Amino acid sequence: MSVLPASALSLARGAEILRGGGLVAFPTETVYGLGGDATQGQAVARIFEAKGRPSFNPLIVHVAEVSWVAGLAETDARFAKLAEKFWPGPLTCVLKRRADCPASELVSAGLDSIAIRMPDHPVAHELLRASGRPLAAPSANASGTVSPTRAEHVAQSLGDKVDLIIDGGACRVGLESTVIDLTQDQAVILRPGVITAEEIAAVIGPLGSAEANPTTFKSPGQLASHYAPGLPLRLNAAIAKAGEAYLGFGPTADASLNLSAKADLREAAANLFAMMRALDDATRYQGIAVAPIPATGIGTAINDRLERAAAPRS
Ligand code: AMP
Ligand code: MG
Repeated sequence: MSVLPASALSLARGAEILRGGGLVAFPTETVYGLGGDATQGQAVARIFEAKGRPSFNPLIVHVAEVSWVAGLAETDARFAKLAEKFWPGPLTCVLKRRADCPASELVSAGLDSIAIRMPDHPVAHELLRASGRPLAAPSANASGTVSPTRAEHVAQSLGDKVDLIIDGGACRVGLESTVIDLTQDQAVILRPGVITAEEIAAVIGPLGSAEANPTTFKSPGQLASHYAPGLPLRLNAAIAKAGEAYLGFGPTADASLNLSAKADLREAAANLFAMMRALDDATRYQGIAVAPIPATGIGTAINDRLERAAAPRS
């Protein structure tokens, strides 16, 4: 890990690391973000690994320009108005993923939606522009610790798990962005933040309430159990039974799909959601058998997701 002051040189170095699939921590106006290329599943898997999160939750994707959003998500008039009014700034919009969205399904934790914002910080902006990639960037701290508002906090919390920290001084806001869900007719605040519901309603009209809307959720954990595959999942399966698809891990001849033939957990995490989706096909299979996944490192989050998907539906 190295810490470099923000400069043309460190930004160019950061952009190179990001395009190569590495992780760069950078300042935004809210907190320091742990950035990875959102279009590379293994870079996104490294983010979860570095933070040590025991489960996958969807990450916010950062863009340099409003025009980048159209390549990732379906936009509408509400989005256009909010971006015009509040971007760059601490407002995250959850939109429907485009069918050909280039971002890894891991940034969406397997959902059909993607959360996007344009940060209001010159260093973040330049890094995004220089890398030319949408960057997944949750707060740059280990899971369960305080959000970092200075480069030293990132270094203390993540150490060598991040390839480069770009030091741009203290963050201005220190509070995380407001998250608004625009995937449904009623816009709903998913996470309160610096920009208030009243300010948002003044731009797009009355908001729905999270309580009144059964398809919204309060925490990513609740959310994950909502989106289980349609077919039953059988975990820790050495082989498939008749009629089952087999989702393999490690060297095996009989996998319908293999999360990682070389038993690499990072690769498995990057493949998890797309492969579960691909095998969730009732016209071909009656169920999905999943190979045992080691419960170490990011394997913990993979197993958490599989267990949720296998849990009885209510
Ligand atoms: P963080 O990046 O850790 O500051 O937090 C990301 C926040 O955005 C969490 O509250 C997530 O639940 C929320 N979020 C990110 N992506 C989505 C999505 N696709 N749908 C709903 N909420 C999301
Ligand atoms: Mg955080």
